[in-house]
Amino acid sequence: MISNEAKQKLISIVGIENYDDSKAGRLVYSYDATPQFQSLPDAVIAPRNTKEVSEIVKICNEYRIPIVPRGSGTNLCAGTCPTEGGIVLIFKHMNKILEIDEENLTVTVQPGVVTLDLIKAVEAKGLFYPPDPSSMKISTIGGNINENSGGLRGLKYGVTRDYVMALEVVLANGDVIRTGGKLAKDVAGYDLTRLFVGSEGTLGIITEATLKLIPMPETKKTMLALYQDLEAAARSVSKIIANKIIPTTLEFLDQPTLEVVEAYAQIGLPTDVKAVLLIEQDGPSEVVERDMKKMAEICKEEQAVSVQVAQSEAEADALRTARRSALSALARLKPTTILEDATVPRSEIAKMVKVINEIAEKYNVKICTFGHAGDGNLHPTCPTDARDREEIERVEKAFEEIFAKAIELGGTITGEHGVGVMKAPYLEWKLGREGIAAMKAIKNALDPNNIMNPGKVFAKSTRKRVVITR
Ligand SMILES: Cc1cc2nc3c(=O)[nH]c(=O)nc-3n(C[C@H](O)[C@H](O)[C@H](O)COP(=O)(O)OP(=O)(O)OC[C@H]3O[C@@H](n4cnc5c(N)ncnc54)[C@H](O)[C@@H]3O)c2cc1C
Repeated sequence: MISNEAKQKLISIVGIENYDDSKAGRLVYSYDATPQFQSLPDAVIAPRNTKEVSEIVKICNEYRIPIVPRGSGTNLCAGTCPTEGGIVLIFKHMNKILEIDEENLTVTVQPGVVTLDLIKAVEAKGLFYPPDPSSMKISTIGGNINENSGGLRGLKYGVTRDYVMALEVVLANGDVIRTGGKLAKDVAGYDLTRLFVGSEGTLGIITEATLKLIPMPETKKTMLALYQDLEAAARSVSKIIANKIIPTTLEFLDQPTLEVVEAYAQIGLPTDVKAVLLIEQDGPSEVVERDMKKMAEICKEEQAVSVQVAQSEAEADALRTARRSALSALARLKPTTILEDATVPRSEIAKMVKVINEIAEKYNVKICTFGHAGDGNLHPTCPTDARDREEIERVEKAFEEIFAKAIELGGTITGEHGVGVMKAPYLEWKLGREGIAAMKAIKNALDPNNIMNPGKVFAKSTRKRVVITR
């Protein structure tokens, strides 16, 4: 609950028009893209600048009001579900591209900038910002940084973390700090920039970010390799990398995913094969030609039934868009779609794909698998129905076993979607008790009153929350 005194102070900072505690307004921000999680905030606040964010945080710290910073709410770990009430902080006013610096190859933005808008703005100047989560049409840079998001181009170009050079952050006591800079080299003190990347809104509020840009690659080619054997597709992934080729994109879709994606996108994807690999390479044209030829050979050696090169950029773009629509397409099958992102070393991809199918069979649940195979990052996805408690129990058990297996194979419980509330119960499997204690020590030092996105990462609750608790 926000006391009337605290409410008046908050309104005096942002104005009544940027403070919404109506039932309808709160309902809109009571959930995010994660199924089965919903909880009402006490108010939704839209600050206009860093100073206002700092003043809001000071009030929240004084009155112990939880703060949930929120971009577009597309995270898949209940990271913006206000499980402990408090305020949801939105950045609709802080959505400007502040500067594109062509000499230092950087772009400086406010947190509410939509990822694709940034990508398009820099591309107009012949520059390239590689992180491209499939949600990039709506996700924000603030969300991308806080989840350390990846995308189709992650294999060659890395993830969001690799492009964050400097941050402006409002700490839990309202202090404003600046980390990093437009610097190729900087070893002055702890690397606080990296600490905030992937911190899921639990350590501070990012109010500005300077991101690294690179020159646009000269050319790009795209191909599809089709397989009648899932493991042969997975083996091709390991073999391409073992042959010292790092393609831009190396994505995997299994047959059930292909079927629904084709029904959704209708671009003529083959649906009578067990799996496809979507492969792309970019760079100087002679390198692209050489790598594509070699990768096609490898796929054929590994029993690809066919290798098809896209004949135009429009065709290539349709393939990429189809892959990016996999989650939306699968979401049409059943009322609830549970998508996970267990990740293993690339060399273990074949084993992991096989295990996922065995686990699905064991628990009698449908699991469709697609993902960033080149990163070892798979998205086993279960179309289900949250109202069928018996089936949901089986789905939970199946995913628990998938996480356990991923860790056994040297992997992790989440490659890019974050921990949030959803995966908090499993974090200790990955980090151990001592690892959790080290993280808690950082959290306590920066946010002693636990106002920054409480209940996330260290949450005690299980995944089984379907209620409006407030
Ligand atoms: C269809 C679909 C496809 C997706 N594809 C991908 C993919 O390919 N790769 C991938 O990595 N993810 C993917 N995601 C997950 C999601 O889109 C990403 O995690 C994305 O970065 C979230 O951005 P957002 O703006 O929606 O952030 P939100 O979901 O609003 O927030 C994400 C986290 O960031 C925190 N946060 C937001 N802004 C700030 C701020 N200014 N300061 C501090 N904390 C803040 C929030 O508290 C929360 O913890 C996908 C999701 C969907 C629905």
